[in-house]
Amino acid sequence: MLLEVRDLHVEFRTRDGVAHAVNGVTYGVDAGETLAVLGESGSGKSVTAQAVMGILDAPPGRITAGEIRFRDEELLTLKEEERRRVRGAGMAMIFQDALSALNPVLTVGDQLGEMFTVHRGMSRGKARAEAVRLMDRVRIPAAAQRVGDYPHQFSGGMRQRIMIAMALALGPDLIIADEPTTALDVTVQAQVMDLLAELQREYDMGLVLITHDLGVVADVADRIAVMYAGRIVESAPVHDIYKHPAHPYTKGLLDSIPRLDRKGRELYAIKGLPPGLTRIPPGCAFHPRCPMARDVCRTDVPPLYEVSGDRGSACHFWRECLDG
Ligand code: ADP
Ligand code: MG
Repeated sequence: MLLEVRDLHVEFRTRDGVAHAVNGVTYGVDAGETLAVLGESGSGKSVTAQAVMGILDAPPGRITAGEIRFRDEELLTLKEEERRRVRGAGMAMIFQDALSALNPVLTVGDQLGEMFTVHRGMSRGKARAEAVRLMDRVRIPAAAQRVGDYPHQFSGGMRQRIMIAMALALGPDLIIADEPTTALDVTVQAQVMDLLAELQREYDMGLVLITHDLGVVADVADRIAVMYAGRIVESAPVHDIYKHPAHPYTKGLLDSIPRLDRKGRELYAIKGLPPGLTRIPPGCAFHPRCPMARDVCRTDVPPLYEVSGDRGSACHFWRECLDG
């Protein structure tokens, strides 16, 4: 396994108390595999990714337990300097907001080129040529002419392509893309997602694709891990989850995707809001919103039950959920 996160716990000390942002997340990604991490805002998707990348905001954040193995190396015990070596050349991250992730006062050519001058000791001339090659690779039209432009001179979709180019620069084995298309128009979203999927296949990288939108992952993901209140509540191959969700939360998310064949009908929404992470409900954290909740759900935290060899559900009533 390329990346293995095991029983990861992250908390934040805030004025309101301790926010339990990540509460025992376990997931893995192989080379060439895409894992989609899905869940509403605030479910701990980004914090998990930041812990993997070694860029957690700490303090106030703190990893209190867990393991993160990458290419068979435990990352959590590495020194910051060694961690930096893993970032960039081993794993790279793509963020939602390219405009704030890119440096506004440097041309894109200089920013891309810096990857090669700083990390690979290339001359400026050679690094610039590499920058143009990468811009071509992510299909930015007239790359050679645009290499001297600044980030704000590009459209949102083109900027996101530049971020993908930055992530690819040092040939990482793993890319973590955190809501990479959320800020884009729907048509541009599909283009950027297709590009990412194509590059991932070509370079046989592992991809962790974080999203709150089940609609975008059907075509690109191999597996889906659904997060709720800092836990994985369902984990399964993508096709199984679409056909037969084994957790009422996943079912709710699926039912709230707009579908053309249901045009005109009112869109289903899961009732209520996700819990505050300083006061996660006892038992199953989803029980206050769950249409299937019973007494045991209010008292007993469900483990991730094995639904089949490669599927898990943290619902006491996963069998009923599968059938219904
Ligand atoms: P999402 O699933 O939307 O990516 P996040 O992982 O960003 O959610 O955040 C989960 C929770 O972690 C937030 O709701 C918040 O309570 C807490 N959190 C994240 N970052 C910080 C921070 N820098 N300081 C304090 N709390 C934070
Ligand atoms: Mg996030």
